[in-house]
Amino acid sequence: MVKETVKHLNPYVPEPTLSELKKQHGLAKLVRLSANENAFGTSPEVTDALDKWHFASANLYPDSNAEQLRSNIATHFNISPDSLIFGNGLDEIIELLCRVILEPGDEVIDPALTFSEYRLHSEIEGATIKPAPLDKAGFISLAAVSRLVTDRTKIIWLCNPNNPTGTLIEPAVIETFLNNLPTEITVVVDEAYIDFSENGHASVMALTKQFNNLVVLRTFSKAYGLANFRVGFAVCSEPLMGYLQAVRLPYNLSTFAEIAATAAFRDQTFVEQTVETVINERKKWEHFLMEIGLPFYDSAANFIFFQVNRGNADDLYNELLQNGYLVRNGLKPGWLRVTIGKPADNLAVQALIAGWC
Ligand code: PMP
Repeated sequence: MVKETVKHLNPYVPEPTLSELKKQHGLAKLVRLSANENAFGTSPEVTDALDKWHFASANLYPDSNAEQLRSNIATHFNISPDSLIFGNGLDEIIELLCRVILEPGDEVIDPALTFSEYRLHSEIEGATIKPAPLDKAGFISLAAVSRLVTDRTKIIWLCNPNNPTGTLIEPAVIETFLNNLPTEITVVVDEAYIDFSENGHASVMALTKQFNNLVVLRTFSKAYGLANFRVGFAVCSEPLMGYLQAVRLPYNLSTFAEIAATAAFRDQTFVEQTVETVINERKKWEHFLMEIGLPFYDSAANFIFFQVNRGNADDLYNELLQNGYLVRNGLKPGWLRVTIGKPADNLAVQALIAGWC
């Protein structure tokens, strides 16, 4: 009835909504610091632009090429408009890449601890995952990745900064890696969190002009504060781009989403302010964790992953939840991931951790 690879998936369990969780735990307030959303909201220009939209055109299909958003992004990054493809969030693009590239029996390499969607969609297409161990400091090791390459390898997923560790690989290291890799292997560099990296120039997007086996992923869900609108994009060259476009669903971006993303993209000041605050707050988090003696990975993202060294992580997770803060548990035994929130929330969470330790 359904394919074998789908039969083996975990049954779908709806995630409780924030209001359900609040009710369940008798909380007046619950702040979600588990999904790496933008704690600083959305640019006011987004609301202005959406207010001006004519709902009278709701009966018409959107522009399937998202020309307005496409030309803004292409100009900003100095890339060809034809090297861009949009998706209903990056999730859709990850699925699309797997649909287009993978066949049963293929191999895919991803970091041993990384974003789970790569594995999910690769396995649905019948590919085998080869997890590359992270180094001791939680960084992706391209040497470990290289050792796993075989003539069946089709995709290498590199999440940069990596979710959940937050660790970053420098662009020059990725370039050397690409120079030494067979060109039939597609390297996907997921830069969902790249805006939060300290130097701001860690992107390998420009290399897509040079390597036609490189795909760079970006999303509007993080620094741009538009997670609800589901807009992500990939940058790559021909011939892969042509195949992705041929397989993509025709109207995967609503006009509403395109208008919101275009307005958010134009307001680079909002992004810069968000990033500056996140970086400052991240430093305070690192300082706090150092003082209190909890191990953590070096993060270049809007979250930090730390080890709970007393009792177990479930206890601290529950303590935070009872006090109105939802963090991410269950990614690695004994570790929690917390999104960098507003300064007052960060202080409150830190005080709870300090009290608990
Ligand atoms: N890539 C990474 C590394 C992510 O963490 C996420 C979302 N948490 C995504 C992709 C998916 O992002 P989107 O909201 O654009 O689907």
